[in-house]
Amino acid sequence: MASQEIETLTAALSRLPGLGPRSARRAVLWLIKRRETSLVQLLEALDAVREALVECRTCGNVDTTDPCGICADPRRDARSICVVEEVADLWALDRARLFTGRYHVLGGRLSALDGVRPEDLAIDSLLRRIGEGGIDEVLLAMNATLEGQTTAHYIAERLEGFPVRVTQLAHGLPVGGELDYLDEGTLAQAIRARRPVA
Ligand SMILES: [Zn+2]
Repeated sequence: MASQEIETLTAALSRLPGLGPRSARRAVLWLIKRRETSLVQLLEALDAVREALVECRTCGNVDTTDPCGICADPRRDARSICVVEEVADLWALDRARLFTGRYHVLGGRLSALDGVRPEDLAIDSLLRRIGEGGIDEVLLAMNATLEGQTTAHYIAERLEGFPVRVTQLAHGLPVGGELDYLDEGTLAQAIRARRPVA
C-alpha cells in the first residue's frame, strides 16, 4: 500500500493527457528512484514554467512575454492569421516554417459530446481581431477530425461579411489526423496547398 504522498502525486499525474493511472504510477516510481537527479530536474523545470510562462492576450500562445514572440515579431506578416485549436498545433505548424503570418489559438474545438460551445472558445476575440482591420487572410488550420471540421465550418460562417480571404489546410492531411502528430513535411505541404473554404 503506497503512502498518501505517492497516491496524491499519482493522482495528479494521471490527469495529464495521455497518462492513465498505471503509467502515472510507473512515472512516480521512476522518479522516486531518481530523486536526486530526474526528480530535482523536473521540479526545477516545473517551477520555471510556473514563474516564466504567460498566455499571450492577443493570440493565446504560451510564451515568456505578452504579447508573445510571434505577435511581437515585426518580420511576421500581420495581414495573415492562422487559426488553430491548441497551442501544440501552433507550435507544430510553426516548426514547419512555411506560414509567415500570426496565429490565433481557439483553446479547443466545438463538441456536442463534450459540451464545448462557441462561447467556450476564443472565437469572439478572433472576430474582434479581424474586425479591427488590416487582415487579408484567415487560414483555418483545424484538425482533420469531425469536430475540427465542424469548428472550421462554424468559424467560416461567422467570417462571412468580413473582407477577408478564408482558406483551410489542403487535405493531404490524413482523415482523423491531428496536426500535433504530423511530420513537418506533411504539414508544410498542407500549408503550401491551402485552398479557399468552400
Ligand atoms: Zn501572441
